[in-house]
Order: sequence, then C-alpha cells, then structure tokens
Amino acid sequence: MARRTKIIATIGPASEGDQVLRGMIRAGMDVARLGMAHSTLEENAERLKAIRRIAAEEGRTVGVLVDLTGPKVRAASFGEDPVEFVEDATVQLRIGHLRSRASVIEVDYEAFFRDVEPGGRMSIGDGRVILQLGDLDGERISGTVVHGGVLSGRPGLHIPADRLSLSAPTPEDLRAVGYFLEHEVDMIALSFVRSADDIGRLGTEPHPNGPLVVAKIETAAALADLQGIIEKSGAVMVARGDLGNECGIEVLPVLQKQIIRQCISLGRPAITATQMFESMIAGPEPTRAEVSDVANAIWDGSSAVMLSGETAVGIDPANVVATMSRVAEHADENFDHHGWSAELAELRLTDVDDPASSVTDAMTFATARAVEELGISTIVCVSGSGFTVRSMARFRPSARILGYSADERTVGQLSLSWGTEPFHLPEEGEVDRRVARALDLCRDQAGVPPGELVAVLAGTDPTSRATNELRLERVPGPA
Ligand code: PGA
Ligand code: MN
Repeated sequence: MARRTKIIATIGPASEGDQVLRGMIRAGMDVARLGMAHSTLEENAERLKAIRRIAAEEGRTVGVLVDLTGPKVRAASFGEDPVEFVEDATVQLRIGHLRSRASVIEVDYEAFFRDVEPGGRMSIGDGRVILQLGDLDGERISGTVVHGGVLSGRPGLHIPADRLSLSAPTPEDLRAVGYFLEHEVDMIALSFVRSADDIGRLGTEPHPNGPLVVAKIETAAALADLQGIIEKSGAVMVARGDLGNECGIEVLPVLQKQIIRQCISLGRPAITATQMFESMIAGPEPTRAEVSDVANAIWDGSSAVMLSGETAVGIDPANVVATMSRVAEHADENFDHHGWSAELAELRLTDVDDPASSVTDAMTFATARAVEELGISTIVCVSGSGFTVRSMARFRPSARILGYSADERTVGQLSLSWGTEPFHLPEEGEVDRRVARALDLCRDQAGVPPGELVAVLAGTDPTSRATNELRLERVPGPA
C-alpha cells in the first residue's frame, strides 16, 4: 500500500538547490513550507518558482505553504556557527538588531522591556536555552543561564502571548500575504493566532479563490477559542514548539490529540509539527522515540506531518523526507480504518444550518459505508473547492481517494489532505461530462484498470459546494 499521510517539509539554506529539491520531491515531499522569518520575500519567491518548476518536471503535485512569522520576538543573528551557553553564565539582553553573542543577546523588538516579565524565566530557541531573568536595569536586563545549550541564526525569545502587545497578523505578515497572492500561493499559515478574528484580519478570499488558511495553534488564548478558530480556517497546525513554551511540554501529547479530534469533527486537515525528526538535523537516522512520535501522530488522526529544521538546515534533507515517508507508510499500513470510521460516525459535527455541508456529510458517510461493504478500492471525487474530498478523507477509508478539480488552486490545496491523490480535471461542463472525464483520467493517469467498480462522488451543480450524487460505476475501456 502507498503512503496516505502527507509530508510537509520546510525549505531553507540546506534545501534550496535544484538538486536537493528534486531529491526531496522524489522522496515524497507533498507540501513545501516557506518560512518568512529567515529570508526575504524575493528569496522565498525564487524558492516557490523553483519548487513549481521541478514539481512540473517530475509530474508531481507539490503544494506551497507560506508560513507567516507573526508576532514572534527574535534575537539578532548569532551567525551560522552555534554559540554555546553554559549553565550559570550571565547574559545581558538589550534591544538591537545587529548581532548577538554569548555575553549579549540583542532583541529585535522595540517594546521588549514593556512586555517582558522581570524576574521570570525566558526560553530561547524552543527551550534550547533557558534564562532566569533579573530586574530591568535601564537599557538592559540581565539573565542567568539555568539550562545551557547552543543557539545559532535568529532564535525566538518566548514572551507569553497574553503579555505580548503585538498581535497576528502583523503589518509585515500582511505585506507577505499581498506579495504571495500575486504568486497564487496554495496555502498561508498564520502564526500565534489568538482568536478567530485574527484569521479574518488576513483579508484573503475564501479558498479556493484565495489560499487555504492554516491556523497555527501555539498560544494559550487559541485553545480558549479553538472551535471558532477551526471553523474560520481551512486547516490547522498543532505547532508544538511554541505551544510547548506557552502551556508546558507535559500537556502537549493530550493537546495534540484534542486539537486533532476537533479538526476531524469539523472536517479540517490537521498538521502535527515540530521536532518530529529533530535528531536528523545532524544525524543519519531518527531516534526510536522520534519514529514512535510520527507513527502516533498519524494514529491520532494527523493529515500531515511536518519537518522544520530537519530539512531547512539539516545535513541531508532528502534522506529525512525519505525516512519520514517510510515511517509514515508503515504507520498507514497499520491504521485502524474500521475502528476510525466507527468512531467518526459519533464524532462528526454537521452544520444543519448549512445545507451544502450537511448534504456532503451524509453523502460521504454513505460512500465510506458503501466502499467498505462492497470492497471497492477507489473513490473518485469530482470537486470544485475540494470540500467533498476533505469531507471524504475524514473517514480515512482504506480505498484510494482520487480528488479531481477543474480549479488548479484546489488541486494544490489538496496536497495537504490525508490519502488524497490530487488531479486536475480539464472539464467544467455538466455533471455527466465531468464524471465521464474523471473516469477516463483515473484509468489513464491513476492506473485504475478498465472494468473495475469505483465509487464516484459529484455535485450536479458545479457552482455549489454540495455533493449530491454517489454512483457506483465501472471504469470504461479506452476509446
Ligand atoms: P514555527 O511554528 O516553526 O514557525 O515556530 C511551529 C511551532 O511553533 O511548533
Ligand atoms: Mn511557532
């Protein structure tokens, strides 16, 4: 069986060459994530173009996700080489943007002294170094290293979201959104979301006319408005790095399960992110604990698992993707499809006020049952916005899900959906013609043999999100 869980890989200095990108795409990267914090818009636009060009050459759909920095407070650069912080050492923090050293950390945020809590603890670089802060002394605050480690580049300094005066999206985020809308980016992730209103402030059109918006859950405030945020977003990321800073690392496993379940009940893809194969930044193999983490994230219901520094700055990005692909494939093979769909029957929330949503919900539920009872191995979804396909993917069927859309942006957005093979459907006519074309294509492009019985889900009205037709059809022979 092929892998069903999607892989998101972050592009950075280690992975921007054509050869490495090609290696990552061949190894199974489904979505490329462009982080805005460490590169200029132009550099990221070059990466986006290279990814699209190489994906086209390879005949693969690779979605592009632009990840907005949000109100993250960062240190001025330590440079490429790791700088070591030893326990009990004294460090000064001051405002600046030029250079950080082991003795002085420059903080690139004007209001730092207003927001920081003197006498509190400060986690730097997702907990790699922890300082015990002293009192504010004019233009600086001193800290003592209570947990030593190494820092490089521009690590983040954690200020609890409820103390931070900045909110998401920042003016810089909005500039990036405008810039990447022109490049028709598939997905945009919003960092440090605190409420559903933050997502509205992005001002993008609903997908697929606009990008699919991924809400990163990484503040305590977001947990309080989780339902509203998920409803307002196209997908969700369990952003364990910053979420662990905010809430304490011991609550992460249970939060991960809760957030994913809520996404599933509302039909949104869920991404599990951060430190999944952290040890592969420097080594050839993940730890056993990391392998288990990826498999368990998949069994929790993640649609996609994400690589960050592993592929952005690690020693061998293609090897990391290949390893994750192997681990995910094996977890997928051992997924409890039957138990899952039984549980989902209880879990799914249908919006009775929205007929398109409740009709599609009932139709995909019926499809999940029909394919299981009849042993059908392929589901053909003919979709406009991708809504039907995402709705189908919730059921985690063991059957293949082929997602067809006439909208190229939907095709890119489906790269994130569990178990979905996205295809472009060059046909926008009435439903019989769209279905006939999709059946021809599933034979010619997806290798479904003529004569095989498949389930086809479609909507009679191509302008409505509602899927109101389920057909069980045999794939025709070639004309
Ligand atoms: P980041 O988000 O990598 O942009 O910080 C993910 C996380 O916080 O886990
Ligand atoms: Mn984060």
